[in-house]
Amino acid sequence: MGWFFVINNTTKHKIILPSDKEPKELKKIVSHYNGDVTRLLDILWDIHDRWGFLDDTKLHQLAGFLHISSIEILDCLTFYHFFYRKNPGKICILVDNSIIAKMHGQTAIIKAFECALGVQCGSVDAPGEFGLYETPCMGLSDQAPAALIGFFPVTNLNPDKVSQIIALLRQGQSPEMVSKQFSDLVNYQRIKSSNSLSVLKGSYVAGQVLQLVVNQSSAQACQLLKASGLRGRGGAGFLTGSKWEMCANFKSKQKYIICNADEGEPGTFKDRVLLTRHAQQLIESMTIAARIVGADKGIIYLRAEYRYLQKELNTQLQSMRNRGLLGQSILAVKGFDFDIRIQLGAGSYVCGEESALIESLQGKRGEPRIRPPFPVEKGYMNQPTLVNNVETFCTVLPIFKNGAKWFSQMGTEKSSGTRLISVSGDCEKPGVYEIEWGMNIAQLLDLVGAKKPLALQVGGPSGCLVKATDSFRQISFEDLATGGSIMIFNQCRNLLKVVKNFMRFFVNESCGCCTPCRAGNVMLEQLVDKFIDGKARQKDLLNIQQWSQIIKASSRCGLGQTSSNPILTTYQAFPELFIQSIKENHNELIYDFDVGKATTEYDAFIAATQAIKP
Ligand code: SF4
Repeated sequence: MGWFFVINNTTKHKIILPSDKEPKELKKIVSHYNGDVTRLLDILWDIHDRWGFLDDTKLHQLAGFLHISSIEILDCLTFYHFFYRKNPGKICILVDNSIIAKMHGQTAIIKAFECALGVQCGSVDAPGEFGLYETPCMGLSDQAPAALIGFFPVTNLNPDKVSQIIALLRQGQSPEMVSKQFSDLVNYQRIKSSNSLSVLKGSYVAGQVLQLVVNQSSAQACQLLKASGLRGRGGAGFLTGSKWEMCANFKSKQKYIICNADEGEPGTFKDRVLLTRHAQQLIESMTIAARIVGADKGIIYLRAEYRYLQKELNTQLQSMRNRGLLGQSILAVKGFDFDIRIQLGAGSYVCGEESALIESLQGKRGEPRIRPPFPVEKGYMNQPTLVNNVETFCTVLPIFKNGAKWFSQMGTEKSSGTRLISVSGDCEKPGVYEIEWGMNIAQLLDLVGAKKPLALQVGGPSGCLVKATDSFRQISFEDLATGGSIMIFNQCRNLLKVVKNFMRFFVNESCGCCTPCRAGNVMLEQLVDKFIDGKARQKDLLNIQQWSQIIKASSRCGLGQTSSNPILTTYQAFPELFIQSIKENHNELIYDFDVGKATTEYDAFIAATQAIKP
């Protein structure tokens, strides 16, 4: 093998180009994407699929082929959870560590995997065959505890199932086959309705609504959407018709339609069901959007945790092309061209924020942009871009079919229609429900079979905690707006530990751009620890308030602006949980340092280090 050094004229970085046959495959991968650096995520995925990780040699080779520096590639790669620099194991097992998984026995599942594999969680076995890691919510909270094996799901796990799974994998069975045997997904891929009202469950004939809209003017179509009162289902609740109108009004030869299928809010899994059961509706809605705003390219940004849905989604895209409902001259209308590709994410919660998602789509770290300008003006490739999430797109179709009045008659004054909620936790019937906006807490708890409920986390960790006894409170933009996740905790649960889990999540997922978010969330987590350990002082309550204000006020995106919500809203609902753990009149210097805990952690670290030595 030989190497030579060259100077890249563009970047002025010293790079190494390969000079033998070995990198041919790598070159082929890069060529497949025409050497386009904005497709870096796809290129990295292909490399991972072929070799499992990106080592130094391939990193330098790739930099050479793409004519960028290795640092630029590392900058992107190290941002995402599912890209690796070392072998993560030929078969990589990712166990959900969300609070819902923890409530359903996740700790025992980790132990069972460790026992069956002979590795500690967070490492790979000696032959490099199996790797075992924890990962945030993977969109399977209705079937917790769950894991992804080679990105194929296994659900409703127990220690016995884990032993069987590992035995089969050791016998050579593929992760896909194991998933078929040990996943209950099929039984959970349906939408349950709370009453006879349903927007999403009506009959569907592919192309029927598109045919209706194709001859409408852009202004007419946007007006209808505005009149329906549909608001984006991602959480911010912006009027969808207004967003489409703004994008339509910006003059540009190139516009884009992007579907945000990166639902990463812990406890949310409704998009998983829509992508499985309503994929054609989604594609048709995106095509309608393209017609209205004047776009000819669309992208579905699919979270990596839903990679197992990608194959079927591609089949559905092809099916729509075959029927003349996607591609060139759609519905035989000359000049009506629009096609969609799928972009796989790579594990990052903050990419659910639309500008971060766009950065990621352009092959970069998924760091939120400073706004304005908003994506409708300067989005993907700095062109006008319409971004909506899966549920918003799917809801558009029945509105065009049945009319604005039909839709706006459902729900409340400021929250038209119905919405999907993912319900998980302490209830008999977890799942995806279509409810009419305005349903109250008591009705919801009854619907899902919650026994002895204590509290609900509405809208995921970034939302708010509500007492179960606040039965009159409504799910609506007027009261409890939600991005679609509702987690239920019964009276046996320690809510401070729930808060801790959420804060750990935010600490891990902060992109680090803003110092208050990067450092402040660590401070908040440490403060929560003090309350859990019974070591908090009165002044710590004030510290929580002050840190929360700083982080909220000076963070660039929704993560930092909402990360303190779990602590603040839990304190608001259950102040006694915090107050009863406050200790006073002790020596601060001695009290803060726990010798026993410190040495236990050190001993565990030394033991782990010894274990991985050859
Ligand atoms: Fe990144 Fe946090 Fe700043 Fe958002 S608020 S941009 S996640 S550091």
